[in-house]
Amino acid sequence: MAPNSNIKLSFPEQDIACLTFDLPDKGANILSRPVMEELAGYLDTLAQRDDIVGVIIDSAKPSIFIAGADINEFAASMEVDEKRTYEMCRWGQDLFGRLHANKWLTVAAINGTCVGGGTELALGCDRRIVSTHEKTEIGLPEVKLGIYPGWGGTVRLSRLVGLGNAVKMITSGESVSPQKALELGLADDVVPAEKLVPAAISMIREEQKTGQYLNDRAQRIKPIAINETELGFLGATASAYIQQQTKGQYPAPLAALETLLGGAMVDAQSALEAEAQGMAKLFGTPVNAALINVFLLTDRNKKDSGVEGEGPKPRKLESASVIGAGIMGSGIAAANLKRGLTVTLNDANPEALQRGASAVLDEVSFDKETRSKNVERAIHYAGRLHSTTSGDELLGSDIIIEAVVENLELKRKIFAGLEEKLPAETILASNTSTLPITKLAENLKHPERFVGIHFFNPVRKMKLVEVIRGEHTSDETAATAVAYAKGLGKFPIVVNDGPGFLVNRLLFPYMNEATQLLQDGVDMKRIDKIATKFGMPMGPVALYDMVGIDTSFYAGRTMYDAFPERTLVSPILPALIKNERLGTKKGYGFYNHEKKKGRPEPDPMALELIAKYVEAPEREITDEEIQHRLILPMLLEATRALDEGVVRDPRDVDLGLVFGIGFPPFKGGLLFWADTVGAKTLIEWLQPLQELGNRFAPTEMLLEMAKTDSKFYDRSSD
Ligand code: NAD
Repeated sequence: MAPNSNIKLSFPEQDIACLTFDLPDKGANILSRPVMEELAGYLDTLAQRDDIVGVIIDSAKPSIFIAGADINEFAASMEVDEKRTYEMCRWGQDLFGRLHANKWLTVAAINGTCVGGGTELALGCDRRIVSTHEKTEIGLPEVKLGIYPGWGGTVRLSRLVGLGNAVKMITSGESVSPQKALELGLADDVVPAEKLVPAAISMIREEQKTGQYLNDRAQRIKPIAINETELGFLGATASAYIQQQTKGQYPAPLAALETLLGGAMVDAQSALEAEAQGMAKLFGTPVNAALINVFLLTDRNKKDSGVEGEGPKPRKLESASVIGAGIMGSGIAAANLKRGLTVTLNDANPEALQRGASAVLDEVSFDKETRSKNVERAIHYAGRLHSTTSGDELLGSDIIIEAVVENLELKRKIFAGLEEKLPAETILASNTSTLPITKLAENLKHPERFVGIHFFNPVRKMKLVEVIRGEHTSDETAATAVAYAKGLGKFPIVVNDGPGFLVNRLLFPYMNEATQLLQDGVDMKRIDKIATKFGMPMGPVALYDMVGIDTSFYAGRTMYDAFPERTLVSPILPALIKNERLGTKKGYGFYNHEKKKGRPEPDPMALELIAKYVEAPEREITDEEIQHRLILPMLLEATRALDEGVVRDPRDVDLGLVFGIGFPPFKGGLLFWADTVGAKTLIEWLQPLQELGNRFAPTEMLLEMAKTDSKFYDRSSD
């Protein structure tokens, strides 16, 4: 690549330069070291000219200004020492500082996503004009990677929008819309994308006359006008809020708060120095490495076509039919509508159809900013949603997704009825959570177009989708299902057919071990607390209640049928079911959910039922044992799933668990975490548990890894 090829210099007017970011062969502009050096070179060149009065910085990408620093460079430098990180921060701060150090005025003309380092660059400019483009957003999401803005972001944002607003944006990592940016003073103007450069030119001409930008520069090098009492109040409230949100598991937001508060009462230069020092301590920590891994997992997923090699090109799907308008069907229909597909929603029961269709419209017309229904949106989407009880009206869609009750015969009947009348290229999919895809497709004439597309509940929130290949699913069908799921904003992982597919197969041992712990006399709240302390979003006992004790029991039967040698069946679940303790949906399960206030307490009847089966061992059961007994069976199952080729890559296991069950992102994923522990230690942890049964026996894969001192990620194709 030629040296100056990432940024183009042009002159929209003789005395106004424009630096346009346009990284060749990349969808996004990224601030890698070479790109930043290129920017530095241009600033040197422009500084030598005394005829320049203004510099505009924009992007040639259609919906991205600058998407931040190069995370791959971060990942490769996890081992660097604090001094090196400090120097990198100072270098970036100085580079962006040069954007307001010359006599010319700099304007960032922002169209599309502007985040992380991109925002820090924009903050270095004297002015920011943003476009009305629907993708335009400005944010500093660094805390989501376990760090904070270290190229001047904490110092320059707080001086621009006020300390309180900066604390909110930086510690939450959430982006703001163009309108919000304008309200905050982060944007100086909002215009349509095509007017960005003309607006920037007018602004430069205007300020050439007033010189206002020079006054602003003088102001922003000073401490922030805030008194000690206000500062103390802001610090106390923000810190309490952050601690509640992060449960002490994510250190970056608190570190960011400390830096922001510390930088407020001193001049900008001292604040920049402190920002770099603080950042040096955060960078490369285990949480930072884990969160970067999660980011890389998602990035990898975006590039994965779902099939090996070049593979066939996925087809573009423009219309979808959903059969079954229940919890899942309505969520799937809404996801399709929101991403621009036309949707036909079908249910055999007219009342269920009506309920489902109105749930869909409620969801798609909800406006997050106003937190209310947007009537215009409701009208728009109502015109794209067709509800019907007739099967014939589904036939014109590019894809048909079945989400009726979990019954093999019923599902097969539906597919057989459809297939007779369907065009050959229509994709047929099932959202089943347990039924084998190969079996569902058994009587089909064209099983190659059949695939499992397993969404998670609630569809609106859960990013994971398992694309399940049956024995005859073609590469084209799998690749099309993957592209389709990505189009819905999901992370699809391709898995082979098998009991519980991937995610439920791994979740089951975690939940099942909880029933064994209950039988050992361990208190349910203690089990849940240890799981959440590890980082799980919910303890396994509470999870039983949420999923439904009956649903969990039937899913468990599938696992027992498949793996009887290592699956223990607890009498607790059937006893609860017999006594109508079915979980949250009925108000009672393990816990009593009737009381709306406070945390649910164990249900007295559930305690009574459990007590009948308790056979407490003589030894004390430590917190460590409980944690190991919950997490290690999940890990062992992952090694078996990998061995059997259920997933194509260890990284898919981690993506699946983080986005399918909320495995703690600050641990980077199950296998990433296991790699940080090491196979030898894992085997040592399993050793004392083996007397409990062969479900704790180390697998061949783990033994081999301990012997060769290798890691799960060594098995990845990346
Ligand atoms: P649900 O009971 O809420 O909805 C099922 C709907 O199917 C009902 O409205 C019912 O009237 C309709 N239906 C029944 N027979 C029909 C037929 N012949 N034609 C058209 N409609 C018919 O069920 P759900 O929870 O949405 O689950 C649906 C599917 O999704 C199941 O296969 C389930 O295993 C799977 N799934 C569920 C979850 C979950 O958490 N609920 C998660 C992932 C996958």
